[in-house]
Amino acid sequence: MAEKLSAVKGMNDIFAPESAHWEWLEAKVRGLMARYAYRNVRTPIVEPTGLFVRGLGEVTDIVEKEMYSFEDRLNGEQLTLRPEATAGVVRAVIEHNQLYDGPKRLYYMGPMFRHERPQRGRYRQFHQIGAEALGFAGPDVDAELIVMAADLWAELGLTDVTLEINSLGQPAERQAHRAALIAYLEQHAEQLDEDAKRRLYSNPLRILDTKNPAMQALVEAAPKLMDHLGAESLAHFNALRGLLDAQGIAYRINPRLVRGMDYYNLSVFEFVTTSLGAQGTVCAGGRYDGLIAQIGGKPAPAVGWALGVERILELLKAQHRLPALPVPDCYAIVPQAQGQDAVMRALRSLRQAGVSVQMHAGGPDGQGSMKSQFKKADASGARYALIFGESELVAGLVSVKPLRADVAAQGITEQTSLPLAEVAGWAARLR
Ligand code: ATP
Ligand code: MG
Repeated sequence: MAEKLSAVKGMNDIFAPESAHWEWLEAKVRGLMARYAYRNVRTPIVEPTGLFVRGLGEVTDIVEKEMYSFEDRLNGEQLTLRPEATAGVVRAVIEHNQLYDGPKRLYYMGPMFRHERPQRGRYRQFHQIGAEALGFAGPDVDAELIVMAADLWAELGLTDVTLEINSLGQPAERQAHRAALIAYLEQHAEQLDEDAKRRLYSNPLRILDTKNPAMQALVEAAPKLMDHLGAESLAHFNALRGLLDAQGIAYRINPRLVRGMDYYNLSVFEFVTTSLGAQGTVCAGGRYDGLIAQIGGKPAPAVGWALGVERILELLKAQHRLPALPVPDCYAIVPQAQGQDAVMRALRSLRQAGVSVQMHAGGPDGQGSMKSQFKKADASGARYALIFGESELVAGLVSVKPLRADVAAQGITEQTSLPLAEVAGWAARLR
């Protein structure tokens, strides 16, 4: 036998029932986005490496050490599997001049790739669902995005998801804070870990985002960006707070919330849970007014968030909120191969009427005994068996047999013969 191949470390295969949970979550999100009038956007999974270097910032975890980058073997172009989607969406919006007729509300779903140490809630191929509002200065749209996420948690039945918000102000304000921060960190140089030492002058703000427990006390007492914000930034932040208050959305102001990408300004936020251990951030986002210009577009403000699908599903599981695996309405028992054409015609008309039917398919030894077919019907979870017996088929009939006690209320309580032509009508009433 040939050597077995396995998936790349940190990248997962997903079968039912989990894949059904994914579809269920995606459907919920599609409904929500439609109700908020966000439109779907699909961009490539591979982008030029330069997009992320320019968009995310050179001194970020992602660009420094997490990107899957490679050279196109045919033309030598430097390419990268997208580690996040905002940069690609912004590139696409610019490239297709999508803001020409006004701002746009967009959403996406799909795989992202980061070379991280795989662990619970952290994978190398993971999935995000994201929403972006481009061309809006806010803070009303900032609030809309946050409220939309909160509505999603409520619709999914999730609890223990808390909102943290902060303002990163504008670049000039960050510069002033940066100087104060560097001076403070220099005074405590002996407490800095390797990452922090390396970033002290290149990206000190990111040191506040450290996950190193040994540095928590140090960053806790560091100068706060909030104290360096000017009147306009504060007004934006306070207006956002007012809008959230008015919608009854609770939040905690976290002055150390800085986010991993360089492109953020003003509002930043995360939804965190204590139910998932160390990987507790389920959704994160903020305003990125500078990014569109940085990627070569006409300057325009923007704001967005992305949620981690695996983490949301994990949370749904922990809180027992996942739906049961869907089962077919009917299982078609086909005792003999003769008459298959009529059977398949009947099943197609059922499916066209919106009924789900699993057809018994024979093996190399024929159709199998009635007993084994009924066993399979039971295992399928179907509510009804449709029995296409030979003599019935000849008479243009099919037998319907309830398989579960809880279907009595739906009309047929014991085995009944129905004309083939009427099955679709009967079954459609089950919906
Ligand atoms: P973290 O601090 O956990 O590394 P991040 O700041 O890198 O997160 P973002 O880039 O903001 O994360 O991505 C948004 C969301 O995507 C995260 O809040 C998280 O839910 C999810 N996410 C990010 N990286 C991963 C990953 N490697 N595996 C699974 N989910 C992830
Ligand atoms: Mg990360």
